[in-house]
Amino acid sequence: MKNVWHPFTIIKDAPEPLKVKSGKGAYLTLEDGREVLDCISSWWVNMHGHSHPDIAKAIYEQALTLEHVIFAGFTHDPAEQLSELITNELPKNLNKVFFSDNGSTAVEVGMKIAYQYWKNVGQERKTFICFEGAYHGDTLGAMSVGERSIFTDVFKDWMFDVEVIPYPETWIGDKERANKEDAVMEQLEGLLTNNPDKYAGILMEPLVQGAGGMRMCSEEFLQKVHWSNRQFDTLLLFDEVMTGFGRTGDYFACKRAQVQPDIICLSKGITGGFMPLSITVSSDEIYESFNSSDPIKTFWHGHSYTGNPLGCAAGIASWKLLKENEPVFKGMEAIHTKHLAKLADHPRLEKLRVKGTIAAMDIINEEKGGYLNSVAKRIKEECVDHGLLLRPLGNVLYLMPPYCVTEDELDMIYEKIGELV
Ligand SMILES: *Cc1c(COP(=O)(O)O)cnc(C)c1O
Repeated sequence: MKNVWHPFTIIKDAPEPLKVKSGKGAYLTLEDGREVLDCISSWWVNMHGHSHPDIAKAIYEQALTLEHVIFAGFTHDPAEQLSELITNELPKNLNKVFFSDNGSTAVEVGMKIAYQYWKNVGQERKTFICFEGAYHGDTLGAMSVGERSIFTDVFKDWMFDVEVIPYPETWIGDKERANKEDAVMEQLEGLLTNNPDKYAGILMEPLVQGAGGMRMCSEEFLQKVHWSNRQFDTLLLFDEVMTGFGRTGDYFACKRAQVQPDIICLSKGITGGFMPLSITVSSDEIYESFNSSDPIKTFWHGHSYTGNPLGCAAGIASWKLLKENEPVFKGMEAIHTKHLAKLADHPRLEKLRVKGTIAAMDIINEEKGGYLNSVAKRIKEECVDHGLLLRPLGNVLYLMPPYCVTEDELDMIYEKIGELV
């Protein structure tokens, strides 16, 4: 701890961070010899288990061949192959891949492209429509389009204005879903009707809002948003940094909902959790507006590690494993659903919900919800003694295991959750 400053950590009150020595499959081994089952894929990035030999080998071999090259004026096979693999699986309008290296920059790039697109086609559209409870990252632009909270409060003078509408979160047995969705759609269409030329785009986390508390919405809602977006001719941006790569039970949330966004942002699972990498994929129509000799229509953006070959090689290896594991990520929702049904009458749990490989529930306690709810701290500490790595978001307990987790392990996780809660 002497020289390391940890993220999202209240320094003075924080317990010593647990030192991790190694990882194998779904398990992490701590320095003191304890083993914990990683129920949250290590900050939602690990798809196929820790230290997977296929991805490790791909990185090793790529490192011995070409570790890095400037990506302006140069290209390489790993970047081209990864782009082709992913765009082949995305909705067919999304074909132009812009590389960066984390989720926040993937979103910043998406917003900058959307904003500039309108200038390139001769319009001024400056405002984004965003959702309550959203999280898009910690850089200034990404903070501006996310929920304003204790996380962003210090920087509020630096952030730009956005239009915020509610996210119609729903859960198993929710009877109000249609009403909530209708109310949000009314608000959205009101904004678009009153100021049709004001909005650069609608930005959202489709199907599941991650850091905001694993809040889930329906496929139908996304279809309605998509329909309005078409009708009012604005851009639809999907932040699939977390929901991408099988998480919601299909390759991407947009595929599950059968919706074509104009821009999609991907990161977290892209390399299976091995290398920092992200991409922002734009529609051909958007790309064409930049296809000009005019420097003012050029996208002047890039990072030193843009398109890093090691990241791309890891991405290709991870994609192959994802293809092999299609039945696993498509089948996990049924397993979660079975277990959630057993917890449905638990007196301390409510709003049980599932989307693909992600299951979540709210723990009822006296404090109101929110990230700083103390139940999170207690569970974080106690679950390690039960051999589990869990990190509730406030009073929201969730599971997002790597795809190598077995059914027996899931049985065991749910049994222990029942006890812990
Ligand atoms: C994690 C996350 C981000 C930010 O990604 P970083 O790699 O942490 O910068 C953005 N959007 C969503 C939906 C996320 O879950």
